[in-house]
Amino acid sequence: MAGILFIISAPSGSGKSTLVSELRRQVSGVEFAISWTTRPPRGSEENGREYFFTFREEFQRMIDAGIFLEHAEVFGHFYGTTRHSLDEARSDGNDLLLDIDVQGAAQVRAKMPEAVSIFIMPPNPRVLRTRLRNRSRAEGVVNDEEVYRRLNASRKEIENYRQYTYILVNDILDRAVAQLEAIVLAERYYRNGETIAYRSHRVLEVAAACLQINSQERLKPVLEAFGIIGESGQQQLDFGPDPYDDDVDPDDDEGDPNEDEKDTDDD
Ligand code: ADP
Ligand code: 5GP
Repeated sequence: MAGILFIISAPSGSGKSTLVSELRRQVSGVEFAISWTTRPPRGSEENGREYFFTFREEFQRMIDAGIFLEHAEVFGHFYGTTRHSLDEARSDGNDLLLDIDVQGAAQVRAKMPEAVSIFIMPPNPRVLRTRLRNRSRAEGVVNDEEVYRRLNASRKEIENYRQYTYILVNDILDRAVAQLEAIVLAERYYRNGETIAYRSHRVLEVAAACLQINSQERLKPVLEAFGIIGESGQQQLDFGPDPYDDDVDPDDDEGDPNEDEKDTDDD
């Protein structure tokens, strides 16, 4: 059985790590490629668990030695996936999941057009801001400048959504996890003839609905909220009132579709 290569991209804070770790808990036979990066560890991250952390000089030496399948500069740091991760997953007969940015995804697709690519979107800029802040607080660093840097980059990344086979909108977590699981099971079914143990018809339907070509209606409000389609063509993202702003009542969360997603410390 040939392993399937899954590429997952998303704007930072969309919930990609959360979805991937849920997927790995629920579906066996998926390996996760640990990338190399020159960015310093965040929060409780450990070398060799979330990333292999290194320095620019070493990273450059690895580029020159042709070690990387793909690499890119994201938010001022280098990130790369080694060819070795791919070979290892192949020899184990496992599927491999790459969590990489839109530049890296384009490089991998060019080399391996058979890869299945999945783009995860946050429902709107306001929810994305809340998630980025909650994550940053959970990691013990509140850096609003960095939060806004990532928010402002989100639209550029989302603009690439058409390059991806599947699109998930990570609004309700359980639903997004079920969709991600359905995509993996459906691809195994179509490519490797693997049977689906439970409610196979439904699983295939859920996966088909996530295909990018079937998602235009579902994506419309998200693309509008990020100013990618619609008449506004806005240059600035609309985050709604900022609960951190002194003039705004923090309880006034009207219009937030994720009622359970207020800026809290207990995320
Ligand atoms: P990414 O890996 O895309 O940068 P994370 O997985 O770290 O994002 O998620 C960012 C924050 O959003 C985390 O605090 C996470 O618990 C939260 N989160 C993720 N998905 C959801 C969701 N569907 N609903 C509410 N909160 C979510
Ligand atoms: P973070 O610093 O938040 O962990 O990741 C920032 C961005 O870098 C995310 O979009 C993530 O997908 C991307 N990234 C992580 N590892 C790699 C990699 O190996 N290659 C590329 N191209 N991007 C990566």
